Amino acid sequence: MSSPPKQEGSPPKQSLAVWKFASCDGCQLSLLDCEDELLLLGQRLEISYFLEASSATVAGPYDVSLVEGSITTPHDAERIQEVRRSSRALITIGACATTGGIQALRNFADVEEFASIVYASPEYVSTLDTSTPISAHVAVVPCLGPVTHAGCGAICPAYDRGCYGCYGPMEAPNTPALNARMAELGCEEVDLVRVYRTFHAGADSFRQASEAHERR
Ligand code: SF4
Ligand code: SF4
Repeated sequence: MSSPPKQEGSPPKQSLAVWKFASCDGCQLSLLDCEDELLLLGQRLEISYFLEASSATVAGPYDVSLVEGSITTPHDAERIQEVRRSSRALITIGACATTGGIQALRNFADVEEFASIVYASPEYVSTLDTSTPISAHVAVVPCLGPVTHAGCGAICPAYDRGCYGCYGPMEAPNTPALNARMAELGCEEVDLVRVYRTFHAGADSFRQASEAHERR
């Protein structure tokens, strides 16, 4: 994907890669639907690998990878390890990548029986018995669960989705410790600001956590 020429003296662009695993491509299409925002994104990021948008690719490593889809084949179980190794930060997008998607219905059934009914030559199908989220295979950037008020039963992490802190901050949240871990995993200052600026951006502890990173 082409991007505007680099401005004299401007900082180097971060590189972005978008990956597809078992999925319907809908999440990637949603990214492409952000037409105006994509132009802005192209000014700030080098879109290095995004086959849904362009066959032109740049070799990794990449600063940020967005991953669509679940792991359903032995080949993809290996490929996600390679994607993880080549990505400083890895973020899953959509239900398939975060919880295994509708294809996780196979986890409750006999895949061989399904394949024998659906395919004329099932012996050519190489598939796993399960559809699993990306976080079951590699480290994914953590969420706000460790600093969020209890009470929801941690329903989102139970379904392998990140907690966005909708219950608000816990009493005395240790945001510095969480931020340090997020930074280790590749979150930048701007990410740390954004993660606290959602449902409870004005709550004292979340406000202070975001402002501390905004000032750096
Ligand atoms: S989460 Fe999966 S099924 Fe839903 S739009 Fe994204 S790729 Fe398609
Ligand atoms: S986002 Fe809200 S509902 Fe989900 S785990 Fe966090 S606090 Fe609970």
